Amino acid sequence: MRQPLIAGNWKMNGTRASAEALIQGVIAGSTGMNQADIAVCVPFVFLELSQRLLSGASIHLGAQNVCTEASGAYTGEISATMLNEFGCRYVICGHSERRDYYGETDVIVAKKLAMVMSAGMTPILCVGETLEQREQGFMETVIARQIDAIIAANGIASFAQLEIAYEPVWAIGTGKTATPEQAQEVHAFIRTRLSERDAAIGATVRILYGGSMKPSNAAELLAMPDIDGGLIGGASLVADDFLAICQAG
Ligand code: PEP
Repeated sequence: MRQPLIAGNWKMNGTRASAEALIQGVIAGSTGMNQADIAVCVPFVFLELSQRLLSGASIHLGAQNVCTEASGAYTGEISATMLNEFGCRYVICGHSERRDYYGETDVIVAKKLAMVMSAGMTPILCVGETLEQREQGFMETVIARQIDAIIAANGIASFAQLEIAYEPVWAIGTGKTATPEQAQEVHAFIRTRLSERDAAIGATVRILYGGSMKPSNAAELLAMPDIDGGLIGGASLVADDFLAICQAG
């Protein structure tokens, strides 16, 4: 039985004041709710504030990116050790926006995963195909390449220490959601691919769905057998919406 995980990805949104209000809203609304593990992945500059507000709460803290290197002359970067010091449990790696706008390749994503794991945190590895790739029949090829690159770099055993988020690029921030059947098909494909290498890892790894998940569609997505939670963008910025999704988990 895989415990669901609902993780918010705030992206580059909010002010100090709105971040504080959102965290407090999520804490207040989630008290006594125990269905799903809950996490909020906030902008770096809100980590200290979030760590302080979340102390004693059962909500986990996460970041949205990390440097491939441990320390040194990497102006503007943030290391895994720094994130760990600020109480991060999760770090999103390889989000499609980072792959697309900042040129993150599978090799870079694999290095980030290794950094996060060696600092004792859990990466959330994002994979997903574009609409063009799906329409041309390359969905499985793309997902397999993204997964296999991590196996090649970090070993199959690394999948015992991470979460996967399947995020079809065409569904992120577009309002278009994969149908539960479309998402289930890809989740099952990923699980089978991992199971072929290691049955125990395939059975236990959590695979979250991300892409316009909202209160109105969360329950049917989360009811699918291989969907173990959600990575939530836009809807994680509204406490009541995020909480409704957590409740559905
Ligand atoms: C995301 O960016 O991880 C995401 C799933 O965004 P949204 O929910 O807004 O589509």
